[in-house]
Amino acid sequence: MTTQEQIKQLREELHRHNYLYYIEDKPEISDYDFDMKLKELQHLEEKNPEFEDPNSPTRRVGGAITKNFNTVVHDYRMYSLSNSYSKEELEDWENRIEKSVGGKLQYVCELKYDGASISLTYKNGKLQRAVTRGDGFQGDDVTNNIKTIRSVPLKLKGDFPEKFDIRGEIVLPYEGFAKMNAERVEAGEEPYANPRNTASGSLKLQDSAEVAKRPLECLLYSLVADNLPVKSQFEGLEKAREWGFKVPPEAELKNSIAEVLDYVNYWDQHRHDLPYETDGVVIKVNSFDQQDELGYTAKSPRWAIAYKFKAEQESTKLNKITYQVGRTGAITPVANLDPVQLAGTTVKRASLHNADQIEKLDVREGDTVFVEKGGEIIPKIVGVDFTQRDPETLETKYAETCPECDSELIRKEGEAQHYCPNYNGCPPQIIGRIQHFISRKAMDIEGLGGETVALLVNANLITNYADLYTLKKEDVLPLERMAEKSAENLVSGIEKSKEIPFERVLFALGIRYVGETVAKKLAKHYKNIDALASASTEDLTAVDEIGERIAQSVTDFFTSEENRELIQRLKDYGLQFEIIAEELENQSTILDGNTFVISGVFEKVSRNELKKMIEDNGGKVSGSISGKTDYLVAGENMGPSKLAKAEKVGTKIISENEFLQMLS
Ligand code: AMP
Ligand code: ZN
Repeated sequence: MTTQEQIKQLREELHRHNYLYYIEDKPEISDYDFDMKLKELQHLEEKNPEFEDPNSPTRRVGGAITKNFNTVVHDYRMYSLSNSYSKEELEDWENRIEKSVGGKLQYVCELKYDGASISLTYKNGKLQRAVTRGDGFQGDDVTNNIKTIRSVPLKLKGDFPEKFDIRGEIVLPYEGFAKMNAERVEAGEEPYANPRNTASGSLKLQDSAEVAKRPLECLLYSLVADNLPVKSQFEGLEKAREWGFKVPPEAELKNSIAEVLDYVNYWDQHRHDLPYETDGVVIKVNSFDQQDELGYTAKSPRWAIAYKFKAEQESTKLNKITYQVGRTGAITPVANLDPVQLAGTTVKRASLHNADQIEKLDVREGDTVFVEKGGEIIPKIVGVDFTQRDPETLETKYAETCPECDSELIRKEGEAQHYCPNYNGCPPQIIGRIQHFISRKAMDIEGLGGETVALLVNANLITNYADLYTLKKEDVLPLERMAEKSAENLVSGIEKSKEIPFERVLFALGIRYVGETVAKKLAKHYKNIDALASASTEDLTAVDEIGERIAQSVTDFFTSEENRELIQRLKDYGLQFEIIAEELENQSTILDGNTFVISGVFEKVSRNELKKMIEDNGGKVSGSISGKTDYLVAGENMGPSKLAKAEKVGTKIISENEFLQMLS
């Protein structure tokens, strides 16, 4: 097989596996094998730039930077939808259009996905361009970013027309959104407000590699072209599915608005079971001929209408705005409300996010406000009922000092949040830091919970996490609800935490922006705390995936004399501040400078273990064979093409046993 054929074959395979995974949800190969194939293709493409393809599966990982997004005129205008909010409005619509067409109509009901609209152009089965809606006439070319979304097919299958546009919505499913936010919170950053804004903000990021990291999805709902091979909306959805698009299965064909209403009521009840946000139902006349007959108003098609679900919104009185201090010192303004029932729960408090938000909404104490519960867990204030405003109320003046320690608040340029700078003296920061230190993913101290930490701090028994290691049973016994047995457990739990490995100790220290993953990376790279503490920001940014911001935060942390003292104390108590010997034991430099390719199935170790063994001993693992490959570790059922290639370029072929011998 020529290189060109090999590249072509890999691309087809990867397109197919991508489809099986992201559209059909029925993968046939492991993630590892997928990654290996992708790496192999990346490698071949790098070596053979003449076979470049803008729609190669390698484009999914991103990398292309868009400085300015070009404006593109849509070939077909992207219309708005007119809205309806009641049964009566829908019935009126039915009467109106059935009269105008002169007969009964069939309708397609679809969910109204709440994200950012997108128009994709395909030519000869390849994605050519992706454009945002913009003003409906023209939008921004965001093709590089859209290519990273796995559910957008880069290449189609089946009997697609030569050229067409397809419209859909880019959404961020709840699960991925929650995960992104959990990571941000863990790293001490402000969480994103809601999935819709995060999805639409993602489309305009300059670095497509950043977009690739976000778990976005593209849901399609409409084909547009001059000569479509279908005669109705419903057939169009089915065809789009066949060509490889993600078209949600909830769409249904209905014979009357009475039937449509059943659908609407069903989804109004069940929409929270869906993986992504929806804000209503879109009802479309099924037949394209009848759509043409009905035509458009200045803004929207006459043949379609959106039915908006009632937002889960209530109004209530805002009694007081208070301020909460997080463990990093970040201040969150909180609205304290007259209790109100919202989506099945009683709400007494809601977030106001930050000073800008308060100013934007002009929220004041004493106002009647609208509270809404979207996809997020914490309800938020979305507006003020100005008709109810007492003219005596005063504009809200944002807190200037910390509610807990009275320090003057600071706000760094370009940041939305205010901070309390009193790192060592502000109780919620002290307590929050110790609570973080003992938490499950950090030191995981058995027998000690967040509330006990607060009691310990308030009783002046501890003022930082190092103090935990001085606690004796007699010290804690006088605390509220502390029995003999629980005091013993607490002390022994603290003792046991001295075995927690370095990477988790590092995470536990609570350095801003150093979450679990970053802590692992740093521990692995620097191997011990002294090496990390003496690293400069330049050293740090040279580490894979460590950016300016993290690097600065790490060096700031270690510049502080107080932090250095704390760490010295923790060291003296016997905590782990280097990668433990056991982990290093299986590491060596025996394979330094050698590149390996792994192929086939192995008996004694898995492919992943094999890969780790090579890397732990200084070797490199590559996805495909080239002149630079030193060894091919060959297992059962190895592909014949790899074998032939290895023989051709003179790579040494070794068995699993021979490899293991190299290490012993
Ligand atoms: P609006 O922005 O309220 O005028 O509503 C029109 C927008 O709804 C379109 O631009 C799409 O982005 C979005 N939308 C979401 N789901 C659908 C759907 N199933 N069919 C048509 N439009 C939809
Ligand atoms: Zn404070």
